[in-house]
Amino acid sequence: MQIAFIGLGHMGGPMAVNLHKAGHHIQAFDLSPDACAKARAEGLTIAGSAEEALQGAQAVITMLPASQHVEGLFLGQGGGLLQKIAKGTLVIDSSTIAAATSQKVAKAAESLGIDFIDAPVSGGTGGAIAGTLTFMVGASSAQLERARPLLEKMGANIFHAGSVGAGQTAKICNNMLLGILMIGTSEAMALGVANGLDPKVLAEIMRRSSGGNWALEKYNPYPGVHENAPASKGYAGGFGTDLMLKDLGLAQENAMTMKASTPLGGLARALYAAHSLGGHGGEDFSSVIKLLQKPD
Ligand code: NAD
Repeated sequence: MQIAFIGLGHMGGPMAVNLHKAGHHIQAFDLSPDACAKARAEGLTIAGSAEEALQGAQAVITMLPASQHVEGLFLGQGGGLLQKIAKGTLVIDSSTIAAATSQKVAKAAESLGIDFIDAPVSGGTGGAIAGTLTFMVGASSAQLERARPLLEKMGANIFHAGSVGAGQTAKICNNMLLGILMIGTSEAMALGVANGLDPKVLAEIMRRSSGGNWALEKYNPYPGVHENAPASKGYAGGFGTDLMLKDLGLAQENAMTMKASTPLGGLARALYAAHSLGGHGGEDFSSVIKLLQKPD
């Protein structure tokens, strides 16, 4: 299939490469010359603009930073890219954005005879490279079946969350829980270690007890507990504090709209914001433990 892939960053680059390796013909584009050069080195064809990437495309995939980028691209000046996309084309947006923005773009797309679906991902850059991402899809069943053969080349799990926007909602619920769990795990680890407990022993006790969770399983925020976790690599790589902050912001915006009560999500957002202001925005989000540790 001929695919226009727009947004070749940490996630989009390797996702596009996996589609290319599966035999699809990709016309890729990114505003960043560096991202384009990296993708070209991996064998992708780079278009001169998003519009040029559309030429002959039967599907369009976007992997952009935030709501404003997706809305700007598709609905921006002069009607945006939607006006240039051929009727009947499938558009898959895998960016993590507000559900309301996905629904707004999908509505405009529908009026033009274009299938726009949201398919945000979980699994990080490792999952993007390995092709093992989890997709949370907001679409009709028929639209999901159209997208499935492409999603299968980039991911290992595909969930149908509901109609358009539902993928985004599932994504922010999961990341709100993850953000809260990481802070809770950090508090418990910091308290135990301050009392003289060996971090590995404490981590193992909690992992096998009622406090067990994903962070204790494979992503402990305390350095040295999990050899491959960002905490053991100076909090490099992984999922950045600023990305977690963005997702918690989306969760709080949504909670306000829904008049939902998410007190721990709100507190978690405030703690990650303070941590980011302290200069840790680019570090993995598990570095939030630094806010909670006793100084040496
Ligand atoms: P990134 O910043 O590395 O990549 C985004 C790319 O989009 C950049 O290269 C940028 O130049 C490009 N871009 C922006 N506007 C554009 C436009 N109008 N046209 C063409 N290119 C444009 O971000 P990322 O880490 O790849 O994340 C992408 C999305 O995936 C985000 O919404 C993020 O929240 C989500 N996500 C990221 C991770 C992760 O671990 N990095 C995990 C899950 C989900």
